[in-house]
Amino acid sequence: MRARELKRWLAEAERLTPAQQEQVLAKLQGQRSQGLVARLLSDRVPTKCPHCSDTRIVRHGQAAGVQRFRCRGCGKTFNPLTGT
Ligand SMILES: [Zn+2]
Repeated sequence: MRARELKRWLAEAERLTPAQQEQVLAKLQGQRSQGLVARLLSDRVPTKCPHCSDTRIVRHGQAAGVQRFRCRGCGKTFNPLTGT
């Protein structure tokens, strides 16, 4: 969005009812927390297998936008949240 558009949009936003302002706020907060979860996931590279604790981990594609890993010890796959 261009700066001028944003300015106009913000001026319009002042005319929102309190209930509408709540809706906008809830939407923005939802997007922020989604971005946070994605960032947390991408930063987390497991150091050991949650199934057998083997440390030989290889990247194994993605599922639903989340990196998956495969254990060379037990052959099971997992993502950074498995077992948390
Ligand atoms: Zn394993």
